Order: sequence, then C-alpha cells, then structure tokens
Amino acid sequence: MDNLFQFDRLKNIKEITHCYTTRLGGVSKDAFASLNMGFNRGDAYENVIENYQRVTTTLGLSIEQLVLSDQVHKDAVMEINEEHLGMGICRESTIKNIDGMMTNKPGIGLTTFYADCVPLFFYDPIHKAIALSHSGWRGTVKKIGLKTLEAMQRKYKTQAKDVLIGIGPAIGKCCYQVSDDVKKEFDLSFNDDIIGKIVFPSHDDSKKYMLDLKMANQCMFEQAGVKSSNIEVSSLCTSCHEDLFYSHRRMGTSRGSQVAIFALR
Ligand SMILES: [Zn+2]
Repeated sequence: MDNLFQFDRLKNIKEITHCYTTRLGGVSKDAFASLNMGFNRGDAYENVIENYQRVTTTLGLSIEQLVLSDQVHKDAVMEINEEHLGMGICRESTIKNIDGMMTNKPGIGLTTFYADCVPLFFYDPIHKAIALSHSGWRGTVKKIGLKTLEAMQRKYKTQAKDVLIGIGPAIGKCCYQVSDDVKKEFDLSFNDDIIGKIVFPSHDDSKKYMLDLKMANQCMFEQAGVKSSNIEVSSLCTSCHEDLFYSHRRMGTSRGSQVAIFALR
C-alpha cells in the first residue's frame, strides 16, 4: 500500500479501511500520470477504471462498493446506505451537490475528490460510524467539518470526545496564497484566536495572505470538543510535492485528481 497515504491512527483499526491516493501506481499518461481518479478531466475512461480497480483491490473493496460524491464547495452532508452502492462509478447517481457523506453501514466506500482541498476523515469507534468531507476554502468558511460532526451527532449519537479525525494532505500555508477577499470571509467566520493561527502576511510584496486550511479545521474541531490527541494532521502539501500529488494551484485544469476513500468493514 506504499503508493497510498494512510493515517497512522486509522490504518491499524480492523473495523475500517481508508486511503488518500497519490499520483503513483496507476496507468494514466501525461498530465494525468499516473493514478488519476477523476472521470471528468479528459483522461481515458478505461484508464481511470483500471486505477480504481487497483486502489479498491488494495483496500479490500470492489468498485461496486464505492459511492462517489458530487462536490460543489458547499456544506451539505448526506447519509449514504446500500441503495447508493456504485453510484457515480458503476451507475447513474442521484447524489447531487454533496461535499460530505456519512454512514454506519459496513461495505460502503465513501469517495471524495481532491487536488489541494482538505480531506476530512471522521471515525466514531463507539457507534461504528464514519464520515468523509471535502473542505476547500469555501467549505472551511462554511465549516463543513463541524456540520459533518453535528450530522453524525444527530444520526448516530456520536460524541465529539470519542471521534478520531484525520486531516489529510492538502495545500499548505507554504503555498496557499489568497487575496484580501478570501481573508475577509475567514475574518467573518472565525474568531481572532483562530485567525491568528491560520492567516499570515505573504512573504512577497503582493499584499496577499498565506492561509492554513488544515489548521483552520483542526482549531474548529478542538473548539467543538474533539481531543487534540484524537486529531491527526498530515504535514504533506499537495502543491510542494509535484512527484506525489496533483495540485490545482500548481497545475491548473490539466491535471488528474486524488480521492479519499473510507469504508467500514
Ligand atoms: Zn507547499
């Protein structure tokens, strides 16, 4: 599994299987090389399917068990069950405008897409429930991470103190330069304490800012009662590591996509 990223805290738990893909170990060519998981980016369909076959086999799943999101940088979270199996990959999907998914049913591979945005993995070991959310800057301003946790609380009686959270590879504060407009959105959404930890003046003379989306999510979860020791944050930046990841900021639209996959066994 050395071409797939996994969290140390989650990878040895028998009840779950998960990964965040890299560019390595697939069959796609050129800008898509090699493990492109995006169907809508211009890559050959059969290459993408082969990439999914390889990843799901490694995880002990089949592609028929996957359920693909339909991400729009908003904050809707949907409960997924057996009736959604294969949607978005093996058959038409009724899932629309969904950036967060959760389930307490085994054998369902929640699947979300990335090329710099932050993947958020949630595992409730007490109620045997999982969730996966896509949090770019818009989703982070809307606090989709918090809304996912609240949705798990409502549906599965999840308590923040029990949850294990993985914050995956994403564009880091080293590379994520944003304009004043974006900074203002964060100022409105987060208190000064958190702003001091996530927004920094840019090193160049652009009068722009460097934004730490992973830290924004981490602070949000800690404030909601998740134990710091239960939050694992990947230090990997998708923009810095050209060899490992597709990055929208670095590559623009001619690129592949990573996916996060998360399932209860
Ligand atoms: Zn970076």
